[in-house]
Amino acid sequence: LTGRFGDIFDRLKKRGALSEEDVGAVMREVRVALLEADVALPVVKDFVTRVRERAVGAEVLRSITPGQQVVKIVHDELVAMLGAESETIDLAAVAPVPVLMVGLQGSGKTTTTAKIALRLKDKERKRVLMASLDVRRPAAQEQLRVLGEQAGVPTLPIVAGQQPVEIARRAMETGRLEGYDVVLLDTAGRLSIDEALMDEVVAVRDATKPHETLLVVDAMTGQDAVETAKRFDERVTLTGIVMTRVDGDARGGAALSMRAVTGKPIKLLGVGERIDALESFHPERVAGRILGMGDVVSLVEKAAETIDRDEAEKTLAKLEKGNFDLDDFAGQLRQMRRMGGLGGIMNMLPGVAKMKAQMANANVDDGMLKKQEAIISSMTKRERKDPLKILNASRRRRIATGSGTEVADVNRLLKQFQQMQDAMKQMKKLGKKGFLRQMAG
Ligand code: GDP
Ligand code: MG
Repeated sequence: LTGRFGDIFDRLKKRGALSEEDVGAVMREVRVALLEADVALPVVKDFVTRVRERAVGAEVLRSITPGQQVVKIVHDELVAMLGAESETIDLAAVAPVPVLMVGLQGSGKTTTTAKIALRLKDKERKRVLMASLDVRRPAAQEQLRVLGEQAGVPTLPIVAGQQPVEIARRAMETGRLEGYDVVLLDTAGRLSIDEALMDEVVAVRDATKPHETLLVVDAMTGQDAVETAKRFDERVTLTGIVMTRVDGDARGGAALSMRAVTGKPIKLLGVGERIDALESFHPERVAGRILGMGDVVSLVEKAAETIDRDEAEKTLAKLEKGNFDLDDFAGQLRQMRRMGGLGGIMNMLPGVAKMKAQMANANVDDGMLKKQEAIISSMTKRERKDPLKILNASRRRRIATGSGTEVADVNRLLKQFQQMQDAMKQMKKLGKKGFLRQMAG
C-alpha cells in the first residue's frame, strides 16, 4: 500500500492544482484499499463520491503536494465518518444505571462485561454490580462470577431456576438497596439471530429500561457483524457498539461499515482475551490502519505546523544567490529534528526504505544531527559564514574540543556542507527547486 500511494505522490507532485483527473487517480486506489480493508461496497461507493466532491477544486496548502492534500482529505473524511473520539459509556442517569449487553453467542459479551466493569471501577471509581442473565449455557453465570473475582467486581448471587427477566429485576433491586452506581446486565446469545433471542432481550429491556444498550460484535466477522447490528438495532435500539477481537483483525474496515450503516457510535474495542484488554476507540488510528499508508497524514500535518515558511523562503533565496552558510545549514538541521529527526521523517514517507538503507550506510543518524549542531555552534560567526576558506587545521582542532567531538567529525561536517553546496549549484543549473522550494510552497 505504501508503494501504491507513493507512486501516486510522484505522479501528482509535478502538477500545480487538484484536477478531477488527479483526484480520480487517488480515489481509484483508495477504493481498492477500502475494499481490501473489508469495508462494505455501498459504504465505499458513498465515501468515494463524497470525497471526490470535496477534493476537486480544493485549495492546496502551500507546504504540501496536491497528492498529499487528497490523501489528507480522504483521511479526514474517514475520521469524520468513524465518529467522535473516545465516546464513553454514558452514566448520566439515576443510580443504579442499568447497562444492557447484547450480541450473538461467542461475540465476547461476558468477557466484555467484565472488562467494562473493571474499567468503570478503576478509572471512574464507580461501584459496579454485574449479573448474568444467561440461563441457557450451563456454566455462563459461573463464568461471569469467576471473571468478577478477577476484576474485583461483585456479581449478583446465582439463584438456580430463575428466568432472565427475574434475574434482571433482582439485579436492579440489589443495585438500589446496596447503593451501586451501575448494574451491568450480561445476556445470553445464540449462534444466529432468532425471534426467541430477540423476545428475551426485549423483555429484559422493558423490565429494566437500560440507559445504555451496547452491542458486542466480533470484528473478525466483518459484514455479518454489520448485519447483526442492524437486526439488534431494529428490535432493541442500540446506544453503542463494542467491537471485539480487534487484535485479530488487521483490516479495520468493519468499524467503518458498522458506523456508516448503523449510525451508532463505536464506544470501545476489545483487543485480547485478558480482562484489561479493552481500549477506547480512536478514529484516527482506525483510519490510518484502513488506509494502510504509514503515517503520511501525520507527516503532512507535521510539515504544515513545523516548517517556518519564511525561514525556508529565506534559505532558498540564499541558496539561489550562492551564499548559503553554516548558519543556514544548522537551521536546516533544527527543522529536521523538529519533525521527529531523520528516523521520524523517513518512517513517515512512503517508499523510502532504500534511502534509509543508504543513509544507514553513510552513518547518518539523529545522534549525528545533534553532533553537527554542536560543532556549528562552536564556531565564530565569521567561521560559519565562510567555513571552507577559513577553517585551517588549528581552528578545526579548537572547534572539535569546544564541541566535544573529534577533528574527524568536523572534517566530515565540512565535507557534507561542501557536497550540499555543490548539489545546490547543480540543482540551480538544472532549474529545479528541490526539497526546499517544496517546503517553502
Ligand atoms: P459471549 O458468548 O458473547 O459471552 O462470549 P465470551 O465473553 O464468553 O467470549 C468468547 C471467547 O472470546 C472467549 O474465549 C474470550 O476470551 C474471547 N474473547 C472475547 N473478547 C476478545 C477479544 O477482544 N480478543 C480476543 N482475542 N478474544 C476475545
Ligand atoms: Mg456469555
